[in-house]
Amino acid sequence: MESNGRTKVKELLNSTAYGSDVIVKGWVRTFRNDRFIAINDGSTINNIQAVVDFENTDASLLKRLTTGAAISVTGKLIESQGAGQKVEIQVKQLEILGDSDAEKFPLQPKKHSLEFLREIGHLRFRTNTFNAVFKVRHALAFAIHQFFNDRGFVYMHTPIITASDAEGAGEMFRVTSLDMANPPLSEDGKIDFKQDFFGRSTNLTVSGQLEGELAAMALGEIYTFGPTFRAENSNTTRHLAEFWMIEPEVAFNDLKDNAQLAESLLQFVIQYALENCADELEFLKNRLLEEEKSKPQDERSEMDLIAKLHLCSTSNFERLTYTEAIEILRNSTPNKKKKFKYLIENWGADLQSEHERYLVEKHFKKPVILTDYPKDIKSFYMRQNDDGKTVAAMDILFPGIGEIIGGSQREERLDLLEKRMHEMNIPADELYWYLDTRRFGTAPHAGFGLGFERLVLFVTGMTNIRDVIAFPRAPKTAEF
Ligand code: ATP
Ligand code: MN
Repeated sequence: MESNGRTKVKELLNSTAYGSDVIVKGWVRTFRNDRFIAINDGSTINNIQAVVDFENTDASLLKRLTTGAAISVTGKLIESQGAGQKVEIQVKQLEILGDSDAEKFPLQPKKHSLEFLREIGHLRFRTNTFNAVFKVRHALAFAIHQFFNDRGFVYMHTPIITASDAEGAGEMFRVTSLDMANPPLSEDGKIDFKQDFFGRSTNLTVSGQLEGELAAMALGEIYTFGPTFRAENSNTTRHLAEFWMIEPEVAFNDLKDNAQLAESLLQFVIQYALENCADELEFLKNRLLEEEKSKPQDERSEMDLIAKLHLCSTSNFERLTYTEAIEILRNSTPNKKKKFKYLIENWGADLQSEHERYLVEKHFKKPVILTDYPKDIKSFYMRQNDDGKTVAAMDILFPGIGEIIGGSQREERLDLLEKRMHEMNIPADELYWYLDTRRFGTAPHAGFGLGFERLVLFVTGMTNIRDVIAFPRAPKTAEF
């Protein structure tokens, strides 16, 4: 029992304490036949049924039992007569805590489209779908911390406001306290950021990696789990302007260790969700089956959601190099039949999501770890391989998602790192602090970034990334 005397619906639905008096507080989902109230309190996607003795209840009170109203019910827990539930409550006392005008409340007890629910994002938590999604999201976040904590990693909070615009992971949002309608100008007529809050131009971080490396080179094993921001104007179902990233960084790890850590992490957290979110995943599995009914047969998933999660959490991920992947793609049917939007002709081409998804969904039919990409399509800090052409990068590709993780072994050799920065026009003097790790006791190390929403997308079987974060931030979208 909670201190306010209420018992949660989740607990009551599993209770056999027939005959005892209980208090339930929650929101009305439906009220049928002037008798049956389905109450949801968020503790589970399942409702508890409360039966009203309508002949002895004030008609004006019954009228207020509308979808969305908050109520408190006191009554006797009894074995249910009806099908579909084990227990129900025989109402003795009924109190309306907060009315909900049925004419105006936008959620009706019927299926709403996800597009519509996005427009009423402030209310969509009240649907079963979003209840399930946010429960799974929570479980995954918890499992991530547990995974790292069990292995002795230190959780680092890297800065959200950064002055380094060197990483080049994406377009950045500027942070300023200047009056942008009337900014101070320097002699050359440009905005004088020396007069800005931090005395320099600053941005929202696109990644905590560089700072994470500094910590790893002393603490050994660290991870970050925080918000990152990219002003990329890509209106896709896989990109947000504000998303959460998990970035482990480990001293003395090479690329193979890095891939192993990533695989273990993903399998651990998926397994955790399977074990701890059974009801939610069952619901989401059925939601997806229902949604896919409207699709042509060949676009439907071959496996249901839970089978897919089992497969990915138990089978080894396929490991291959970029060069091997290019060969497979070059000889693939969609490439030969010119079905790809971007045809694979030459080594060096950047892989598009159509290629990534072909490899994962059609060719290997399981998660894939691609390694050793051409250096020209990857970041300056990735360790240069002996062939002079590739770097020790890795991307992990997941069915239905494409890239879920991007990572690498880092270039620990100062001379090679400085040379690469020069070639790529990265200002080495601004990043003196980063280079210091290579100057003083440098050592091999590796890490990766896992996009949290892409993980949640995969585990929930949702199709749009805006439906797995409470308040999505995307181009022209910052409501609520
Ligand atoms: P993509 O090619 O899909 O845009 P990226 O190569 O830019 O990804 P990284 O910079 O390697 O991605 O970031 C690490 C991880 O962060 C990615 O593997 C992905 O899971 C996630 N991620 C990257 N950009 C976004 C975004 N805009 N919204 C949500 N997640 C993202
Ligand atoms: Mn990107």
